[in-house]
Order: sequence, then C-alpha cells, then structure tokens
Amino acid sequence: MKYISTRGGMEAAPYSAVLLEGLATDGGLVVPESLPQLSAAQVEGWRSLSYPELATEILGLFATDIPRDELAELCRAAYAPDRFVSERIVPLVPLAGEQGPGEIALVGLSEGPTLAFKDMAMQFLGQALEYVLAKSDRTLNIIGATSGDTGSAAEYALRGKDGIAVFMLSPQGRMSAFQRAQMYSLTDGNIHNIAIAGVFDDCQNLVKKLSGDLEYKREHNLGTVNSINLGRISAQIVYYFWAWLRQTDAVPAAERAGYEVSFTIPSGNFGNILSGHFARSMGLPIRRLVLAANENNVLDEFFRTGIYAPRSAAATFATSSPSMDISKASNLERFVFELLGRDPQRLSAAWDELERTGQIDLRAELPRFETEFGFQSGTSTHADRLATIRSVFETSEIIIDPHTADGVKVAREFVEPGVPMLVLETAKPAKFPEVVFDATGQQIGMPEHLAGLLDLPQRVTDMPDDEQQLRSFIAERAV
Ligand SMILES: *Cc1c(COP(=O)(O)O)cnc(C)c1O
Repeated sequence: MKYISTRGGMEAAPYSAVLLEGLATDGGLVVPESLPQLSAAQVEGWRSLSYPELATEILGLFATDIPRDELAELCRAAYAPDRFVSERIVPLVPLAGEQGPGEIALVGLSEGPTLAFKDMAMQFLGQALEYVLAKSDRTLNIIGATSGDTGSAAEYALRGKDGIAVFMLSPQGRMSAFQRAQMYSLTDGNIHNIAIAGVFDDCQNLVKKLSGDLEYKREHNLGTVNSINLGRISAQIVYYFWAWLRQTDAVPAAERAGYEVSFTIPSGNFGNILSGHFARSMGLPIRRLVLAANENNVLDEFFRTGIYAPRSAAATFATSSPSMDISKASNLERFVFELLGRDPQRLSAAWDELERTGQIDLRAELPRFETEFGFQSGTSTHADRLATIRSVFETSEIIIDPHTADGVKVAREFVEPGVPMLVLETAKPAKFPEVVFDATGQQIGMPEHLAGLLDLPQRVTDMPDDEQQLRSFIAERAV
C-alpha cells in the first residue's frame, strides 16, 4: 500500500515514510492510493480476535511495509491491558431507557491513560514512531501546542521512547488542575512541558513559526503528531470494526453479514469520523455516520448546506465541550478529495477558492453526502449538553462527559428503528467535574487509578511568549 497527496504533487510513499511527516510535501494531505476492500466473510473471521489482534489485521492492510510479526508486537504493546482501565480495551455500554425506535450504546474509547479517545490512536503511533525511527536510524523532536487533551495523549504515548523528545507548549494558567497534573507530573527525561505566558493561540503561533522555518526544522528533526497524522487516522479505523463485531456478537450468525449499525461521532477536526468513513468505504456495514458538533458548528453547516466556511479563532466560542471548539477542520480535505472523484486538480481548485473567497461551495454534490457516503449531522448547545448528561444519568445511571453528551443529543435525533446507534465516547466525565455537577448535582471523583495525581510533584518550564528563547531551549534539549 502506497500513499499519495490530495493535491497530486507527492511521489507515492510507504506507510513508514508518511508516519514521520505532517502535511504532504505539496501542502496537501496524505491519503491511501486506494482503500482495501473487505468481504463480509473476512470481517466475520475476525470475531474471536482480541483488540490488539484485530488492530494487527487492520493496520496490516495499511502498514504493508512493516513485517507482520513486528506489527503484532507494536499492537500488543500499544493496547496492553495494563494501559487501559477496561480489560476489553474498548467496551460497549448500552444506554438503558433509550425507548426510542432503536437502541443506543456507547463505544468506550476513553479507557486509556489520559481518559480521552486520542489515546487509542496515540498509543499505537508512539510504538510505531519509535520502531520506524530505530529502523532508519533517525530521531524526532515533536513540537506541539495544547490546551489540554492532545498534548497529554501525545506525552503519555511518547514518554520514555528512544529517539523521540516532546516539546509541548501550553498556555500558562489556562488549563484545569487535572490537565496540569496530568502533563506536568511526567518526569521522563524526553518530555518537556513549556508553559507560555499567553493563550493557546500564542502557543500555536510559536509552533507554526518554528515548523515553518524549514532550515531549523531540518536541523533539529522537528515533527508533529497532530490530528492529520495518517498513523492516527489508520489506528482509529480499528475501533469501528471492533464496535461492529461486539454489537453483532448477539445477532444470529446467519443474519450478521451486512447487518447495519450507525455511528454518531462528537467531532472537531474531522479526524475521528474520517476513520469511520474509511471503515465504511472498506466494506464495514455502516448505515449512517452522524456528525455531532457543538456551538462551533462549521461542519454541521457544511453537511446541511454543502458550503464549507471555516471561522477565525476570534469567531470560535469557548464552550463546555472544549475539545470540539474548532472552526477549521483540518481533515476535511481528505473527504472532499473523495467527493471530487479523487481528482487533485478539482481538489486544488476548491482550496484555491477557499483562499480567495473564504469558503468552498459544494452544493452541487450535497445530495451525495447522505446517499453515497451516509453522512448526517447535528448541533448541540450548552443547554443540550446539560440536559443530555442529566437524562442519561436518570435513565441509565451512567455519567457521560460533555463531548459524549453532544454525541448522544444528536444521535437521538437520527436513530432509526432496528438500527443500533453507537455513540463514540470521546472522554471520561472525571475530566469535567463542574459541568457534571451542574447537570446532575453529582460530585464526581477521580478514577481510582488516578487518585493521588493532583499531589504529585510537577515539572514545567515557564517561558515568555518569545520565539528566540524557545528556539534555544529546543536546540539544547533536542535528541
Ligand atoms: C479531539 C476530541 C474530539 C474531536 O475529535 P476530532 O477527531 O478532532 O473530530 C472530540 N472529543 C474529545 C474529548 C476530543 O478530545
């Protein structure tokens, strides 16, 4: 399997080569030359596999340049039971009392070290990066900006890895006590937390400046592991297959082939749901992929109107589901590429239009969004979030987090008779105790395995918003 750019200007490259890059060399996004096609019998043959075994089968279709036994080892290490709270790695939890036409279940993607779904892909990427770097005798210095979740998932996945250092910028005094404790208590020598006197955008701008200086970037082997990373997208495909297999365990064997389920995905950068779209394109019987947005609903607007109009950072609301506060969905280009017949010329023209006019008009293709690709979408607000957390707690005695609540709210609008609706749980409620309290009156404690986290000593370097200081700091500590 080889990988090409959506803009058509990159020579086809193998998996391990694209894993180390962010954008394609021509500024586009990297996509598989073609997606593997699976028969119902092949998928059925995976029913008895454990999560790491299933990951090996599916990632083996993408990482064809990594020998199978070595890939199996990477997957075993990434999805080792001692890294996840649930023994099954990804448990399915039906919501009781959803008396509507179909049943709703949660797909538990937040059992990993940082209690959010990003661990699922990051844990694999950490293993895969270390492996690929060792093979090619290279090193990598990851630089990133975080307002909380992404940074910690990357640090927990890359801590202690040979040949890798992490420089993670966070806004001073703007993260929750939990987020600070989670990141700053890591004592591994290759993890560098830098608290910038500024807001998240200032951190992001510093990262852009350094990554945009190609000479500095090459000299210090700088890289990123953001949500456009193809390793992450491929690793996320696994849990769609896993969820379908677990949901159909109880279906009579004769009725399983082609048994349709729908998914609802709380979305921001369009990464998670893109992996679902790939799973569907590979032959997994997914009826609907329902995109759930919060008040920053650029993507909901796109899927309802066919017009994609990203908003500026200034026009982006700070909401109670903060990981979805995104107004420019970096992975959308990969879907638009397929919508436009995988034609790099049409794709490039669309992005030129975006540069020129601030939007892309795909109204002509709108009917195909649902009929051909199965996409639907909806928006959830702060009031919806609170009401949904409360109602799920009342009927199921399960407390869900605000992002998952956006998912359940929108899922309820699109659930169909006889089609199970699986909502991806993207974070654990313990990360958002205030919202949970407002919704339910419940004081939610820290999960048992994290008790004591807040009391651990913290290690962080405070720095002014100063590019030169950051440059020297990295130059001194890069691997
Ligand atoms: C990152 C994140 C999302 C959004 O996922 P995308 O892949 O960016 O669409 C949703 N919820 C939580 C909790 C997240 O951390």
